[in-house]
Amino acid sequence: MNQADLIIKNAHILTVSAQGEIANGCIIVKDKKIIDVFEGPLRNYESKKVIDAKGKLVLPGFVDCHTHLVHAGSRANELQYRLQGMSYQEIQQKGGGIYSSVKATRAADPEKLYQQSLERVKLCLKHGTTTAEIKTGYGLNPATEKKMLDVIHRLNIESDLETIATFLGPHVYPDDQEPEAYIDWLLNEGLELAKKDAEFVDIYCDVGAYTFEDTEKFLNAAKSKRIPLKIHSGQFEALGATGLAADLGAVSADHLDKVSEAEFDALLRAGTVPVFLPGCSYYLKTAYPDARPYLDANMPVALATDYNPGTCPSLSIPMMMSLAVMHMGFTPEEALKAVTRNAAKAINRDDCIGSLEKGKQADILICKIGKLDDLIAMFGGNFVGTVIKKGLLI
Ligand SMILES: [Zn+2]
Repeated sequence: MNQADLIIKNAHILTVSAQGEIANGCIIVKDKKIIDVFEGPLRNYESKKVIDAKGKLVLPGFVDCHTHLVHAGSRANELQYRLQGMSYQEIQQKGGGIYSSVKATRAADPEKLYQQSLERVKLCLKHGTTTAEIKTGYGLNPATEKKMLDVIHRLNIESDLETIATFLGPHVYPDDQEPEAYIDWLLNEGLELAKKDAEFVDIYCDVGAYTFEDTEKFLNAAKSKRIPLKIHSGQFEALGATGLAADLGAVSADHLDKVSEAEFDALLRAGTVPVFLPGCSYYLKTAYPDARPYLDANMPVALATDYNPGTCPSLSIPMMMSLAVMHMGFTPEEALKAVTRNAAKAINRDDCIGSLEKGKQADILICKIGKLDDLIAMFGGNFVGTVIKKGLLI
């Protein structure tokens, strides 16, 4: 008998790997990793910790590959503006939107920023997210951007959520200094900070955010420093940044509500991961983009929450899956792949997380439902029962 740290038996497993669906099988965990996944009853292994998952659905831990989880304050007051019909840009012009989060995040001391973020981390884990990418961008000045990066790293070390840092210094233009001066900082010290403390850089190119010209400058400078690229583009208009990012070899292009045919082709050519954020369409009451052409073209389509205090204050990956299936042309299986394996690809982690297979990190969910369709159908509910991160029960 081989000794294991943890065994899950009698499980209905969706591996999201070449092994596919296992109606009744076992997952064997040792040293934080999955060492075996097989069909049928338990054999060859024993452990002091055995979970009988009869009647339950076992999935890979969800990967939320696009969040703005670290910020201070709340923008729940903007709900009333929204209900009065004000647009995202109008709220921003009134001093709301991103600028109110910038103000609160600048004012918060590191401990307060950490504690507020930690509450959100707990919500992520409760809903089955075991890895999350987190962006900066509520600093728009050197000290606060650095403070945000430090909090993202502290969450990775001290909480059960694995976090990946993305430098989004160019989120919007700061409202307290000339854009040229800030861009100068971004292209020099900002990118040095990103290279040292972040895994990716990102820029928000759209109406009300960065221009195409500044985006081009920033991405080229980041590429010359060999920092992997991400982009926020095509949320409101197709300004060409999606195609630009793909041509520069971006790891992912996110939002994609408005994408030209040429940009679609560029994504396909480059193998850039298209990341859709249906929570924004839901909360901004805008049209959902159709993901079907991307799925039919066999692109590695991913889904994420885009959690942020203004345009999608939700951390629920199952909710995003449901929206994607009901409004964007995903099948339930495609939605699952989009929040596991493909989301892992969007953060360069598909070699170690995102599926249940031999050699991968033991990030596993045991859900209190019998089949995937239930997760999609019973939207708004939370059926994640047990969360296992790196082989440990949380
Ligand atoms: Zn975002």
